[in-house]
Amino acid sequence: METAPDTPVTVPLRAAVAALPAYVPGARPSGTAHKLSSNENPYPPLPSVLAAIQSAASEVNRYPDMYATELVEAIAAHVGLAADQVVVGNGSVAVLHHVLEAVVEPGDEVVFPWRSFEAYPIITAVAGGSAVTVPVTADGRLDLPAMAAAVTERTRVVLVCTPNNPTGPVVPADDLETFLASVRRDVLVVVDEAYLEFVRAPEAPDALDVLRRHPNVVVLRTLSKAYGLAGLRVGYALAAPRLAAGIRATSTPFGVNHLAQRAGIAALQAPALAEMTAHVEALVAERTRVRDALREQGWEVPDTQANFVWLALGERTAGLAAEAAAAGVLVRPFAGDGMRVSIGEVAANDAFLALAATWR
Ligand SMILES: *Cc1c(COP(=O)(O)O)cnc(C)c1O
Repeated sequence: METAPDTPVTVPLRAAVAALPAYVPGARPSGTAHKLSSNENPYPPLPSVLAAIQSAASEVNRYPDMYATELVEAIAAHVGLAADQVVVGNGSVAVLHHVLEAVVEPGDEVVFPWRSFEAYPIITAVAGGSAVTVPVTADGRLDLPAMAAAVTERTRVVLVCTPNNPTGPVVPADDLETFLASVRRDVLVVVDEAYLEFVRAPEAPDALDVLRRHPNVVVLRTLSKAYGLAGLRVGYALAAPRLAAGIRATSTPFGVNHLAQRAGIAALQAPALAEMTAHVEALVAERTRVRDALREQGWEVPDTQANFVWLALGERTAGLAAEAAAAGVLVRPFAGDGMRVSIGEVAANDAFLALAATWR
């Protein structure tokens, strides 16, 4: 039965939902455009991962393993923790939803940096939390002292994005330690390491060590970026067993599909791991080349440790992003603020650098 188009909808949406900003995905290419708008891995799936997906395809009439037992064990072995400290989900965005659903009571405050990952305000609102944002510094770094000062009696969660999407720098280990020492132990601190594999800065924290010493920490990681599985959706949380159980309890049943489970397991095995590492190394080299070329052109580029660079273009952002799209280079504009440009194939990076030179 179809609803007549002029029938008024009388069911109210929750106020927090009605007020939600839309998640703006990176522009999708048509034809031959270079897609540097979504922080994706430009390399195609690795052969062993592709083979795992292909063989799993013949089994999709069955439900997946609800607890993704083998995938969880593979991740646990990979990071060196027990399986009861690992929770997987449909991308780490979904896992973050479950983390907040597990701990946030209506009106609890969730502190996060801004600008940062655009899913944070959405996930906070959906969980019934109240967002408290703390501006990043002029050079795109998290201001942890200001974030510590923003913690009140009503704060339940603090989100720490390192490296920060979309600006790029990592949180130094010493700063994170000072921050953790200053917040109450019943405040959950989420360390979002979506770009961990691209980090080369020696001052970056060892989040697993931090987790061992601070049971109020949850570490978020993903197979979307370095592992190149963005289209399959596998992310995970690492946490103390009691917190992990809470996050698991709020998770969508069968939330990681069968293809994603099999692909994730294959991605964490020796041949794929070595290939992934080589690809990441090449992308890190490209990141350095792009960053240095931009600085040579005269741009101020934050010290990115991820697979993207940030140009704080302010009011010029939207116009220049449109110009780039017209020239066949898709970037991610944040209107009035800046432009995030993912590191892609050499030709794509060159096309972007040529454009950036004309903008000086
Ligand atoms: C990309 C990204 C994620 C996760 O992405 P999924 O594909 O959902 O795993 C999480 N946090 C940040 C900061 C990201 O940039």
